[in-house]
Amino acid sequence: MLYFSLNNTSPIVDFKEATIRGQAPDKGLYFPENIPRLPKDFLSSIEALSREEIALTVIEPYIGNTLPKSELRRIVGETIDFDFPLVPITPDIRTANLPPNPLPTTIYSLELFHGPTLAFKDVGARFMSRCLGYFVRDNNRPVTVLVATSGDTGGAVASGFYGVEGIQVVILYPSGKVSSVQELQLTTLGKNITALEVDGSFDDCQRLVKEAFADRGLNERLFLTSANSINVARWLPQQFYYFFAWQQWADKDHPPVISVPSGNFGNICAGLMARSSGLPVDHFIAACNANDIVPSYLQTGEYHPKPAQPTLSNAMDVGNPSNFVRILELFHQKLPSLQQTPNPRQISSLEQTLSAVSISDAETTAAIRELYTHHHYLPDPHGAVGYLALQRYLAAHPGAKGIFLETAHPVKFYDVVEPLIGSKIPLPASVNVLLNQQKHSIHLLPDYAQLKDYLLS
Ligand SMILES: *Cc1c(COP(=O)(O)O)cnc(C)c1O
Repeated sequence: MLYFSLNNTSPIVDFKEATIRGQAPDKGLYFPENIPRLPKDFLSSIEALSREEIALTVIEPYIGNTLPKSELRRIVGETIDFDFPLVPITPDIRTANLPPNPLPTTIYSLELFHGPTLAFKDVGARFMSRCLGYFVRDNNRPVTVLVATSGDTGGAVASGFYGVEGIQVVILYPSGKVSSVQELQLTTLGKNITALEVDGSFDDCQRLVKEAFADRGLNERLFLTSANSINVARWLPQQFYYFFAWQQWADKDHPPVISVPSGNFGNICAGLMARSSGLPVDHFIAACNANDIVPSYLQTGEYHPKPAQPTLSNAMDVGNPSNFVRILELFHQKLPSLQQTPNPRQISSLEQTLSAVSISDAETTAAIRELYTHHHYLPDPHGAVGYLALQRYLAAHPGAKGIFLETAHPVKFYDVVEPLIGSKIPLPASVNVLLNQQKHSIHLLPDYAQLKDYLLS
């Protein structure tokens, strides 16, 4: 498989090159030249396969011959070394309060938080760190992974890369805008992991990282690469759990609607790739918070990036979702600003597959309470956004059933969740360990010169 830049002016590259570079020299995102079609018997026999077998089949075409098969098998095995349960949540919403309820479950939660940092980003980060570690093992220049995080990326990347030989990791996070558990996850490891605490927003962090990648002088002295969700080695393995959901989905005659809490749109774009490969999915919902750039694009056809607005689901506080151009590419569309003559037929095919909604903080807290009180399920704020978006869609589409992705463990956002339910969330063992550790971060103004000084020091 080869990858081209969505800005179309860089040479095509293989998976190894795309992983090491992160972004193409023309600043475009890499995109595969074609989308593999999965074998028919793979989807029909999926229940009999192991998770490793499923993941290997899905990812192999994207890797080509850049990794030996035995190495890929090892990396895949380590990447998905935890559970991905599909948990039934609600009976039919119209009769939920009328026991006894004979109706089947309509809403499921796909729990993606059973990995080491309790968020779905563990999957992409674990896969990418192991691929990159393999690709640079003969390098004589040390590699610096530079990444901006709105919370969960930092912890997942720190944990994924911790102790990987030949790789230094520098993480930028917005001071005071990540939860305390998230902050501990990215500031307590030490060794090859450094956390830079920026006095600014997540967008500031992203801008600083972009400037560093665009700085020729810096890149001559350092071998910089990104671990943000634009990296193909983080983005593509996110397809795995959509297949694990299908493996567990009982009603194979009626594929699920899938609601994905979305910020940078990497996760949902991976789901759309899986669907293009043949995975049965009825419809995708991009569940957004107040940062409604994509919902308003799908409604009005106008794409207006805005500064990120802080919300309770802060991992989705993104004002210019970087992966959205990949979704447009998948549907052979361009941003309206780049598009000469809009093609209404293409827009409708995008809209049949994908819809997007914006959920307010007030609605998010109400959804957390409802799930906890009526369904005895405690979501995190991101999962709650996904749940509510799905519930609304199903209310308008009787007979449909769906899955929301529970993208993080609620304890990562205990500051938000505990006051709502009036009790403490039991701490998982991995969090207990963190609480006794010392935070180490370096303060930074949102000023590129400061970042550059640090990187060169
Ligand atoms: C990163 C994150 C998201 C958003 O995922 P994208 O791929 O950026 O759309 C949603 N929920 C949680 C908990 C996250 O950490």
